[in-house]
Amino acid sequence: MKEDMTLSCVDCGTQNCKFKDRTYPDFCLTTNLKEEDKEWAMEKYDEARNKEIMIASAEVEYEGYCQWSRVQEIMEFARKIKAHRIGIANCIGLINEARIFAKILRANGFEPYAVICKVAGQAKTSVGIPEKCENIGPAMCNPILQARLLNEAHTDLNVVIGLCVGHDSLFYKYSEAYVTTLVTKDRVTGNNPAAALYTAHSYYHKKFFPNAPKPTFKPKEDTDK
Ligand code: SF4
Repeated sequence: MKEDMTLSCVDCGTQNCKFKDRTYPDFCLTTNLKEEDKEWAMEKYDEARNKEIMIASAEVEYEGYCQWSRVQEIMEFARKIKAHRIGIANCIGLINEARIFAKILRANGFEPYAVICKVAGQAKTSVGIPEKCENIGPAMCNPILQARLLNEAHTDLNVVIGLCVGHDSLFYKYSEAYVTTLVTKDRVTGNNPAAALYTAHSYYHKKFFPNAPKPTFKPKEDTDK
């Protein structure tokens, strides 16, 4: 490990902040925590609807643990926070998934309202995006407008379905309602970005670790002999 590397929770092998019966590493973010930072965060849970959101999230996690799909979790969460009008900020590439989700919402008593990423059909170059980017389609995604229109529709909770990396960042920034994500787009893994992590030491190894030595595969010993 490089000496100048800043260590953090990803470098910890104990997760003792949860388990409590192991050891904390020297660089532990819990044992090195400033009291004022902890207090600041804990006080925030008393602001606006943060406590309600925290309690509803924990109850959904507990009540449907390993039983409810994320679609169902979102509906149960929405019920708990009394969200009726559900905004959908979807990518045009996932319009079918957005339609199915809206149908499920309606069947369960919610009122979906969707704004697609290409709303207003602005040219990419109109915001300074290089012209070459129009080769994969001239209309820009408009996450700030998606947020604005959902804000004007007074949605109680917004759900992201497949917004691009970065466009989602802008949507999260400008949405007035709380946001959760149903689908994270990944064009090469069928919207399962974790697949690249699960295969980071096999199929994706060369792509992600271009300077690493080639992994050596040792055949497993046959223990039946
Ligand atoms: S807070 Fe401390 S114990 Fe918990 S994961 Fe981070 S380094 Fe490990």
